[in-house]
Amino acid sequence: MKLIFEYEEQTTGYLSDENISIGLPNELIRNELPLPNVSEIEVIRHYTNLSKKNFGVDLGFYPLGSCTMKYNPKINEDVAALEGFRNLHPLSKENCIQGSLQLMWELEQYLKEITGMDTFSLQPAAGAQGELLGLMIAKVYFKQKNKKRAKVIIPDSAHGTNPATAAMCKYETIVIPSDIRGNIDLQKFKQSLNDEIAVVMLTNPNTLGLFEENILEVCDLAHNNGTLMYCDGANMNALLGITRPGDQGFDMIHLNLHKSFSTPHGGGGPGAGVLGVKSFLSDYLPLPRIIKQNNKYIFDNTKEKSVGKIRSFYGNFGMLVRACSYIMSWGSNIRKVSEHAVLNANYLLSLLKEVYDLPYNRKCAHEFVISSEKFGEKSALNIAKRLLDYGFHPPTIYFPLIVQEALMIEPTETESKETLDRFAFVLRSIAHELRENPQVVNGAPYTTPVGRLDEITAARKPNLRWAPPK
Ligand SMILES: *Cc1c(COP(=O)(O)O)cnc(C)c1O
Repeated sequence: MKLIFEYEEQTTGYLSDENISIGLPNELIRNELPLPNVSEIEVIRHYTNLSKKNFGVDLGFYPLGSCTMKYNPKINEDVAALEGFRNLHPLSKENCIQGSLQLMWELEQYLKEITGMDTFSLQPAAGAQGELLGLMIAKVYFKQKNKKRAKVIIPDSAHGTNPATAAMCKYETIVIPSDIRGNIDLQKFKQSLNDEIAVVMLTNPNTLGLFEENILEVCDLAHNNGTLMYCDGANMNALLGITRPGDQGFDMIHLNLHKSFSTPHGGGGPGAGVLGVKSFLSDYLPLPRIIKQNNKYIFDNTKEKSVGKIRSFYGNFGMLVRACSYIMSWGSNIRKVSEHAVLNANYLLSLLKEVYDLPYNRKCAHEFVISSEKFGEKSALNIAKRLLDYGFHPPTIYFPLIVQEALMIEPTETESKETLDRFAFVLRSIAHELRENPQVVNGAPYTTPVGRLDEITAARKPNLRWAPPK
């Protein structure tokens, strides 16, 4: 307040150093503001060049496994940017936003059809939040049945958010190892089932990119034990139109619309981790529900068992628009997405498995995990850095944790054979370099704006300021 008041009292010339010093604390005074004197074209070039220093899916192949941004058709951006959607106010009255409510209602119908679930909540804003909602529902469900069940079973290949979610809900995690085919170890699973197990959280295909071969048996065993089956469906692009988690026996599933259904993500941007459940759990979903009555779409706040809200309003609406647009553009052909994703992954795998090790030698789903362990410690990291020099974004490395020097590769459905061939060629060349001239790989990257960073310092104390050369 003091500052503003003093500024207002100055009638002329208050930007001179002398006068500013009346109101500004010394440490805020900049005597020489080094503003460049530049023309429009120079500004445009500056920002255009800056925008190209970062790697993005519009620049090159981006085969990051698991958390992959799949295909994001630009048309869905246009649809989400339509004025009526973009300017929608979340407090609008039902009768003013019938079209948007219809879109959300119809998206729910599509997701039910795709997954075999009975009801969806579009509220969760991330995969992890969908998981949280799922386990919150499990908590309330068992509490109302007067059952004390305090444990959750999670395989050792699971995504880190699964045990983190269990911990947030104060569940104890029981970790089950994977067997030699990469499935959950059935014997160990049977031994761990007892009346304390509330939920089994499974990813299918799992994070090794492998389909759980015993899924029907796992679900039967869990259900006979009174345990709920939760599916981590963050990455649905191996199953679309081919098989449905609901038919496999899962009671709940979250989908990451921002991975498998078109929304671009990165930098922690907005997401949608929608949660689907079987009918016996529908009443626990967050409010309001959108229902259709007499050809009108209305909010339903009547479900008393609801666990409450998990996020404000209805979730990230823009993501719902993109997902709906994506699903509608495929229609009943959506199976093609998965057929191409699985074909591309298996093609790439076949080109790489001679040169790198394949810990689980099976046909993969939408992604696969190879290991560079034979090239020594930190080789996965070094390969990832070297790929940057060849213009490729590195795959996910060091995950899943059960594979040493893991490289998790997901090509997605839209990459051409030429791109996959080029990527495989480069990975083979890097393997050759590792044998003949490892120091080249270990010092990479050489062509990026900055070379090898101390990643901890870069993350903890980022230096975001450009300093002119002294
Ligand atoms: C990405 C991912 C998650 C977490 O999703 P967020 O939206 O990042 O919270 C959970 N499980 C799997 C298998 C994933 O790939």
